[in-house]
Amino acid sequence: MLNRFSCSLVVAVSFLSCAYAQTEKPHADRIFVNGKIWTADDVRPLARALAVNGDKIIAVGSNEEVRAIASPDTAVIDLRGRLVVPGFQDSHLHFPGRSVNEVDLHGVENLKNFQQRLSDFAKAHPSLPWIIGHGWGYSAFPDQTVNKKYIDAVIPDRPVYVLERDGHMGFGNTKALQIAGVSSATPEPPNGQIMKGKNGEPTGEFKEAAQGLIFSHIPPRSTEDQYQSLLQHMDEAAAAGLTAVQDAYTSMESFPVFERAAAADALKLRFRFAPPILLVEGGGDPPNHKLEKSLTEADLAPYRKLRDTFQGPLMKFGAVKGVLDGTVDARTAAMFEPYVGGGTGIPFWEQDDLNKTVALYDKEGFQVLLHAIGDKAINMALNAFEYAAKTNGTSGRRHRVEHAEVPLLSDLPRFRQLGVIASTQAMFANPDATVLENFAALLGPARASHADSFKIFDDAGVVQAFGSDWGVFPFEPLPAIYCAVTRTTPQGTPAGGWYPAGRISVEAALRHFTRDGAYASFDEEVRGTLTAGKLADFVVLSKDILASPTAEILNTKVLLTVMGGKDTYRSEEFR
Ligand SMILES: [Zn+2]
Repeated sequence: MLNRFSCSLVVAVSFLSCAYAQTEKPHADRIFVNGKIWTADDVRPLARALAVNGDKIIAVGSNEEVRAIASPDTAVIDLRGRLVVPGFQDSHLHFPGRSVNEVDLHGVENLKNFQQRLSDFAKAHPSLPWIIGHGWGYSAFPDQTVNKKYIDAVIPDRPVYVLERDGHMGFGNTKALQIAGVSSATPEPPNGQIMKGKNGEPTGEFKEAAQGLIFSHIPPRSTEDQYQSLLQHMDEAAAAGLTAVQDAYTSMESFPVFERAAAADALKLRFRFAPPILLVEGGGDPPNHKLEKSLTEADLAPYRKLRDTFQGPLMKFGAVKGVLDGTVDARTAAMFEPYVGGGTGIPFWEQDDLNKTVALYDKEGFQVLLHAIGDKAINMALNAFEYAAKTNGTSGRRHRVEHAEVPLLSDLPRFRQLGVIASTQAMFANPDATVLENFAALLGPARASHADSFKIFDDAGVVQAFGSDWGVFPFEPLPAIYCAVTRTTPQGTPAGGWYPAGRISVEAALRHFTRDGAYASFDEEVRGTLTAGKLADFVVLSKDILASPTAEILNTKVLLTVMGGKDTYRSEEFR
């Protein structure tokens, strides 16, 4: 036992060769044979079989090689030719996720639809004091404009607030505005907008920091509600083939929720946490003015403690997240040139403050994730990473730009030069009505043509880690792979794809969802490829998406998800 342990540490790359150096052969709990195993490992890209012992893969190879390891008590699973890929890793999402008591407005296509869903939910939940929802897009509303009257018409008596699908804006009904005391006289907070009609009255819509005016009146979620959400959403994620996720704005209050799940042995995903960049006030919101005092090393003590506490493999800490701008849809993403229709967005930071703050975290060994969508914000993020590396003489921090939707083309080589990861979201390129009529229209063709183009990062040799930004978008990787590969909606529109030069191959998309995700969380030594010695995290798919027509990706199901050697999801169809 001790021998095998030290051996696998030393020769993690190839356990087979390692195992044969021992007198005893390793014990396999289960072997999976007769598959098509896409390993994401360049040393052996394809194999037929793999063996698992405990939470590790102990062999990857031909059927004969792997069968040779089996003992009489080894379970043999016949994959019947199916495709096996490393467990999907989502490099940017938000757990514990939406409350199970929120109305989901994803997919509403018009006002009638929207109102119907709201009123059905209100009727089904008569005792909720507030009705909270999320997921709508501007294209569902007349003139792409939302207004409190649309909610008043169906729910006049209870406060309602519903978030746009990316969460950077939302709108409420009259009752909600009354409770929050918002009127035409309410001043706009820094970094936020209270939208007003021609008469100067608030329309009910709030952007960015102005949403705080409403949020502060919504009763906080109970810990129990958070825990139940975590359990439910982990089940859904496992069913989608996810085995590891990076949480991109962990609030300090949710750590006990994750710890409770860990203590109950209920974790079905590996989590990596990135709480907000601490500011001098101790809060995590972006500064709305020049910082009066810089952070000091002493201020980072709570995060050093988290780093000591959570070291993996199930829960790990090591990154912090900052937010540099808003979104294109809300015209709050910070741009060098104006949007079509005006405005250049809202940069949340001053470059000088950002440089110093990032440099402090960099010096202390933390990876920094910066939400930056507009070309100006992305440029600022790269400037700050460059400053930190130069000032501290550091390298290999793998800092990340989150979303990176509309980069300057001239900034692409800087990602690679600085070793910065592009943390992108495949589903952001789904050319639905909101993307075509709002997002692309606001950018204009010159910028839209390379927005959410995953190819430009690949061509520039940048490590690109895919995520979903779930709760904003669904976290299922298969539809996201379809989107990255076709740049069409699931209905196949527009024909030929939206700016098809941005399409990537299925294999590239798989890499971004597996080994690149592991690299982005400093886990490439332990997972991300199917290699002997690494964690046994993998997925069995119903179809071979590497060899089928792309439309078949949407008909492909996850049949089995294994994390750390244990089944976290098993379809009834998997026999
Ligand atoms: Zn996010």
